[in-house]
Amino acid sequence: MSNIRFEALKSAFAHQVNELKSENVNELTNERVKDYFARDVFTREKMKEYIAQEVLDQLFDDVDNGRTIHRDIAGVVAIGIRKWAIERGATHFTHWFQPLTGGTAEKHDAFFKLDKSGALLEEFSGDSLYQQEPDASSFPSGGIRNTFEARGYSAWDPSSPVFLIGDTLCIPTVFVAYTGEALDYKTPLIRSTAALCHAAREVCAYFDKQVKHVHANLGWEQEYFLVDESLYNARPDLMLTGRTLMGHNSAKSQQLEDHYFGAIPARVLAFMRELEYEALKAGIPVRTRHNEVAPNQFEMAPIYEDVNLANDHNLLIMSIMERVAEKHHFRVLLHEKPYAGVNGSGKHCNWSLETNTGINLLAPGKNPYQNLQFITFLVNVLMAVHRHNGLLKASIVSATNEHRLGANEAPPAIISVFLGKQISEVLDKLEHAKAEEAIIINAKKEMKLGVANIPEILLDNTDRNRTSPFAFTGNRFEFRAVGSSANCGAAMLALNAAVAEQLMLFKAEVDKRIDKGEAKERVLFGVIKKYIVACKAIRFDGNGYSDEWKAEAAKRGLDCETSVPVVIDRYLAPETIKMFERTNVLSEAELQSRSEVKWETYVKKLQIESRVMGDLVVNHVLPAAKRYQTMLLQNVLAVKQVFSADETASLNEMDYSIIKQIEHHSGAILEGVEHMTEARHKANRQPDERSKALAYHDNVLPLMAQIREHADALELIVDDEMWTLPKYRELLFIH
Ligand code: ADP
Ligand code: MG
Repeated sequence: MSNIRFEALKSAFAHQVNELKSENVNELTNERVKDYFARDVFTREKMKEYIAQEVLDQLFDDVDNGRTIHRDIAGVVAIGIRKWAIERGATHFTHWFQPLTGGTAEKHDAFFKLDKSGALLEEFSGDSLYQQEPDASSFPSGGIRNTFEARGYSAWDPSSPVFLIGDTLCIPTVFVAYTGEALDYKTPLIRSTAALCHAAREVCAYFDKQVKHVHANLGWEQEYFLVDESLYNARPDLMLTGRTLMGHNSAKSQQLEDHYFGAIPARVLAFMRELEYEALKAGIPVRTRHNEVAPNQFEMAPIYEDVNLANDHNLLIMSIMERVAEKHHFRVLLHEKPYAGVNGSGKHCNWSLETNTGINLLAPGKNPYQNLQFITFLVNVLMAVHRHNGLLKASIVSATNEHRLGANEAPPAIISVFLGKQISEVLDKLEHAKAEEAIIINAKKEMKLGVANIPEILLDNTDRNRTSPFAFTGNRFEFRAVGSSANCGAAMLALNAAVAEQLMLFKAEVDKRIDKGEAKERVLFGVIKKYIVACKAIRFDGNGYSDEWKAEAAKRGLDCETSVPVVIDRYLAPETIKMFERTNVLSEAELQSRSEVKWETYVKKLQIESRVMGDLVVNHVLPAAKRYQTMLLQNVLAVKQVFSADETASLNEMDYSIIKQIEHHSGAILEGVEHMTEARHKANRQPDERSKALAYHDNVLPLMAQIREHADALELIVDDEMWTLPKYRELLFIH
């Protein structure tokens, strides 16, 4: 009888050898990066060749100021786009959007149609660029469409350039209901940057009247695992759920941390080179690649960009990764926790605010005004994160990220901010300073910062805290709790909106006091000082993994809830609804629909996992265990026939013990599966998505963990040759 695991292993080794022999591995291209960077993107530079200058002037002006593009302009732009795309061999176009299920969605249409005589006509009108109606019913809306009986449509986002993937022109679009509610991540992300841009510019006016525009930057760091395709195909759990639902730890795992510092394996390097080539052609400025902590885990990061574009690029890279991996007989795992007991994958989101004058508002400045401005923005971010720490957590939780958070490798399920020694000291000094010593205005009306002297270069790289979910890293904040498979938009829009609201509140308070005749610098200092005290609870520089911190965080009143379905409630907290409405980012109906979708997705994921787990133990684990047990039983009988009773007593001791252990674990698994199925059916009968999600979390998930324990115990006992599922040591160490 053949064992699928051994077939898979044979094939995996063949992939390894073939890839290394393949000649084009190191000779992907002779071109220089500058020659192929953004080759597949219709950049502003290229638009000049295809579209009249006065049309472009109008387009760019509208885009840069967040105005709607006129349909006539879209018509002219569409002609230019079509010409460029067809010259480059494109035959189809698609509106490319970001449904709430995660990932991206597309619906391809040909550029051509037949006229009455049957002749081919090239067609791509302004209307096809502007708006389309994908079959919205297959995307989740959390009840919005039922309630409003509205259809959905996708509409061009002219701020993100169109690009080619193979023979298809991709047009980044928003996806909204006809009644205007957002059905995607992009719409509220764009709204949130508009709110933030406006609020930040108003606050900048206290310091520098030249600032006309502020935008948010995002630099993501994408972690992922690679696994050989044959091994992947022999693991139904990986194929259907993205993670292993069972599997005993490998004797060698990540304890030596040799993978992190080690050289990138040759086959992986070949994959990475091609991935980078494809990414650069698509205009994604990828820059770093390296191994991660766990075996077969890697990371890639680009140079940061405007948050909307950066998020598009992250979604695009996730699909490019999958495509390129297949060419190298790998599968890429974007799941947050594909392997238990091994570090999971996150997507660190580096976030900063930049003015049109080129100033990073989260970096210490060159003069006292810039430094006071820096402190102002820093402290307002702290306030926003403090006031909305529950919401920020809700923005990153999911059925998949749940396994990673708090697993002593990733930030805990408590949001806090790490500032580092230098900045903490500055804030402490400000807190205890008097206005006269903090802000000194000399005879020439120049301002000096007395106590808040901020060293211009404070990038002390050793002062890093990997255990913090939200860390200041010298000139930006790094939101580390975001999951590797997530759309960063969910986290970024919550952060943008929270900070926008906070800046609005700050300005209102400052203006009120200035209107009463107080000096501006004094007022700014006074309000900042008040804020430093008010948001103290969010600052934590210690070990976020420790149990002491969990206790301390609860005392400080931070959100310590760990159950995902309950954390999702934070989207509907009164202060969240108020904040999103005040900033015009999400309406209450939209928040309701988003929470519905989150609960629904949670239920679906767990339902699939639980079913797959049942199948796996019944079809793989138990048959292998029984076969081995039968072999041992036959051996016991044979031994009895050959040896005397005295001799067999000791001879059979070990066999007996194993036979009994197999019996014990098999029985427990069968019983567990029965209970799990019952719990699932009960959960499915709950009246609404939230109750279903709670039931899955509270009653199904723990049973899955129990079943896994017994299955993993059997893996250790059963003859290796009989075990049919590729083991951790194979999944993690073959590359
Ligand atoms: P790390 O030490 O965290 O690995 P890297 O230098 O690799 O740091 O950068 C991580 C990410 O941070 C990159 O995507 C980079 O573009 C981004 N980044 C750097 N500076 C900024 C900034 N000012 N705003 C936003 N992102 C930034
Ligand atoms: Mg980083």
